[in-house]
Amino acid sequence: MKKIRLLTPGPTAIPEQVLSKFAEPVIHHRTSLFEAKFKQLQDHLKWLFQTRQEVLTLTCTGTGAMESAVANLFSPGDEVIVANIGKFGERWTKIAKTYQLQVHEILVERGHALSLSVLESKLKECPNAKAVLFQASETSTGALNPVKGIVELCKKNGLLSVCDGITAVGILDLPMDEWGIDVLITGSQKALMLPPGLAFIALSDRAWSNAEKSKCPKFYFDLLREKKMQEKQQTAWTPGISLIQGGVESLGMLREEGLPAIFKRHEVLARCTRSAAEALGLELFSSAPSPVLTTVKVPTRFSVDEGKKIQKIMQEKYGVIITGGQDELQGRILRLSHFGYCDVFDVATGIGALELALNDLAYPVEFGKGVGAVLKAFHQA
Ligand SMILES: *Cc1c(COP(=O)(O)O)cnc(C)c1O
Repeated sequence: MKKIRLLTPGPTAIPEQVLSKFAEPVIHHRTSLFEAKFKQLQDHLKWLFQTRQEVLTLTCTGTGAMESAVANLFSPGDEVIVANIGKFGERWTKIAKTYQLQVHEILVERGHALSLSVLESKLKECPNAKAVLFQASETSTGALNPVKGIVELCKKNGLLSVCDGITAVGILDLPMDEWGIDVLITGSQKALMLPPGLAFIALSDRAWSNAEKSKCPKFYFDLLREKKMQEKQQTAWTPGISLIQGGVESLGMLREEGLPAIFKRHEVLARCTRSAAEALGLELFSSAPSPVLTTVKVPTRFSVDEGKKIQKIMQEKYGVIITGGQDELQGRILRLSHFGYCDVFDVATGIGALELALNDLAYPVEFGKGVGAVLKAFHQA
């Protein structure tokens, strides 16, 4: 028997009481039964996004909502600034180019966050840019962007702030209305404790008025059409009905915990993980470590192939699934996730498996040193 534990940055673990919802009969979406359920989800989403705007539910993954933002806010030839601090930042560039926007990219060395002074000079260089597209937390590197500062600079210069909050909403504080974030996005398989298949997007008044003028082609992702439908608790197309039923349950659980407690939990789990890394002599990869996931450098004594092996051993021998680096970071970093349906015991388990795997590869480990650091940091919090 091997128990599988998911400590990855999406999909994430799902609570049993949410899983059991997927065994319920599927209700038809053009019914008042569905509308009542959907109303509950919409209400929870507004709470989660800290907004009075409609939070639209799309049946697609997070990337679909990113694409919908580009397709609905802009017209071909429009200029945008993209903060490329990792793979997901790069995705903004790819989507924007697909829709024939002119992209001014800020390419940031992997592991670092966007610097506000660099953004400020880019804004001066590109007076015609209409928006800044960025991630709140960059999942590929574990770096946290200064969201509030980015949004303020956008506002000051009359640009839209388009925030991929896919691994940030429900983890760290992003008060959409209070900060004036123009577009905020998340996905079901991250902090929302659901399987993949739904994405959520909210637009500010300013963003909606841009949507009225947008000339990019769109059909499935026509957000104005969705808004009209969703204001009546309906969706333009057949939605992921089971996921919506599960979402009412999982968001209900989060709501019961409350936003301050959610943010605190993730802060504490990040602190526990960083403290374990230090105890094991593992260096942090990111200079702006996120409360979402902790990236550590694979010790230099390991080759790239051995680096990949750490993760492989954790998975195949101990059943703990974590992620490594992508592209040029393969075998060079480990990404330890600590968000969603995750508590201190999940973190301790992950660190325990890491200790075993490192020991299997002849890295000197004093068993329990990392796990002990997790418990100590938790106790002190
Ligand atoms: C997971 C993730 C995405 C992409 O989401 P998909 O659901 O795989 O389409 C985008 N941005 C960030 C920051 C993510 O973590």
